[in-house]
Amino acid sequence: MSVKNKPPGSRSRLISNILFIVSGLFLFTNLFFPQLYAEPTPQVPYSMFIDQVEDGNVARASVGQNEIVYELKNQNAEQPQIYKTNPIFDLELPKRLEANGVEFAAAPPQNNWFGNILGWVIPPLIFVAIWQFFISRSAGGAQGALSLTKSRAKVYVEGDSTKVTFNEVAGVEEAKAELTEIVDFLKTPERYKAIGARIPKGVLLVGPPGTGKTLMAKAVAGEAGVPFFSISGSEFVELFVGAGAARVRDLFDQAKQKAPCIVFIDELDAIGQSRSGANGFVGGNDEREQTLNQLLTEMDGFAAGDATVIVLAATNRPEVLDPALLRPGRFDRQVLVDRPDLAGRQKILEIYAAKVRLDVEVNLKQVATRTPGFAGADLANLVNEAALLAARNNRETVTQADFNEAIERVVAGLEKKSRVLNDKEKNIVAYHEVGHALVGAVMPGGGRVAKISIVPRGMAALGYTLQMPTEDRFLMSESELRDQIATMLGGRAAEEVVFNSITTGASNDLQRATDLAERMVTTYGMSEVLGPLAYEKGAQNNFLGQGMGNPRRMVSDETAKAIDEEVKGIVENAHQQALDILNHNRDLLEQIAQEILEVEVIEGEKLQSLLDRAEKPQQHTEESETVLA
Ligand code: ZN
Repeated sequence: MSVKNKPPGSRSRLISNILFIVSGLFLFTNLFFPQLYAEPTPQVPYSMFIDQVEDGNVARASVGQNEIVYELKNQNAEQPQIYKTNPIFDLELPKRLEANGVEFAAAPPQNNWFGNILGWVIPPLIFVAIWQFFISRSAGGAQGALSLTKSRAKVYVEGDSTKVTFNEVAGVEEAKAELTEIVDFLKTPERYKAIGARIPKGVLLVGPPGTGKTLMAKAVAGEAGVPFFSISGSEFVELFVGAGAARVRDLFDQAKQKAPCIVFIDELDAIGQSRSGANGFVGGNDEREQTLNQLLTEMDGFAAGDATVIVLAATNRPEVLDPALLRPGRFDRQVLVDRPDLAGRQKILEIYAAKVRLDVEVNLKQVATRTPGFAGADLANLVNEAALLAARNNRETVTQADFNEAIERVVAGLEKKSRVLNDKEKNIVAYHEVGHALVGAVMPGGGRVAKISIVPRGMAALGYTLQMPTEDRFLMSESELRDQIATMLGGRAAEEVVFNSITTGASNDLQRATDLAERMVTTYGMSEVLGPLAYEKGAQNNFLGQGMGNPRRMVSDETAKAIDEEVKGIVENAHQQALDILNHNRDLLEQIAQEILEVEVIEGEKLQSLLDRAEKPQQHTEESETVLA
């Protein structure tokens, strides 16, 4: 949303404002500092002036407050030799001048009444000009100086040449499927209203930057054939307190007149950050709070019978949003717009590659394979980079070699700022995730392994293994918890087995495994050494359910030590089990890892048939079971 909609006149007005300021400054300096523009008088140090006075070389001097201008006694030269110097605080000066026979006087007061008047007039004029400049910038000019609050939402009306459809959005099929319903609401609201259904008002598009959330919102409007208002959250919060709230009101007034329509708010987190603050601090931003309150009021305002206005909002930080925004009747639907998988990337590449001239030998599937973690915008950039390379090398078409070079360039740039994996990292992530899956398959206490993916997802994970509980569970047995811990450690164990080294990628796994083991000992009383005692005090969650972690009961040093040993024992035992399983199924680990490196996501029947071949290393688990017992 970096392009602001400036009315056509505002640019020329801006230029004239700047000219006005510049000419004002010129006049100002010319009047008050005329010496800037006059023939320069040579400047000498004060000490030299004094020397010349003492030597009796100075004929006359004009002593001003800021400078002393003096003329030398010179018989030969026709031109008088005039110098100036900056005075220092010197009470002896008149005496000295007198003693050396210098004719001297105070500098005459400058006769610049005109300058004095301008001195009073010009600074306010400059101020007014600057003021006008900011007003025309922040209000969009056309509505005049006082309409600061007019919303600057861009309007995309149906039939516009910028009309976007779902065909132009690829790689986010799940999001598309969910938004198709919204299109339906907008096209035939009567059908839903007749039956008494409440049409959703707010849909939150959640996903990392560059995944095409704005494009997606435009496509919903395009598909439904309704006007599209778009504004960025950061534009609401501006210069003046209260302006943001007024802007929200104005935006919704405009939208209601054009209903049914879509209002798209980009960067919702700029206004919608939790008022209590993510860390429990009370946020002190009045302006943001007022804007947010106004937004909530507007969204609650249009009731079922009213005009159909659907608000789509985008954010890449859903966790910081104020819970009030997510309540029913507001942004109660969330659609994940995530980075595309292999097939999605290929489709996106096809869309963008259609706009450049491709060589016949270009294999877009191969390009897609080499770009895990790229979002839609990154892929668009990649195609453009390849085209630039081809043009630079005077080629008629874009070749595969151009793509390969472009990938290297783009990856080097992206690795720094976001999650793009290079081949080596991708390899490690693949074995890591298959490690989780294999241990999970052999020790099914944590549920059935349903999906393995090495497409970086969301903000946290480089890859993930999804386990589905086989049924709704409220009670877990000790052995199931042990299975879970082993599965969590499967990723790290796989790195050890395959690469004989470990990476930082497993830190979250270790954290969760250790937490769970600690709870087994201190909360669930599952340790035989420590007995069925709860070593944690009761839950002290606040009413929102955000636990702050339970404090430990006061325990003796020996007990604390015993707890630590038990926790360590559980985790180490699970780690050994995971290692045993992976060593036992080494070939299968290799096979699945190679497979997933090729397709990136394995799920369903195919995954099941692979994991069914995993075997349990009988003797080791028995042994470790007895060690623990
Ligand atoms: Zn892991």
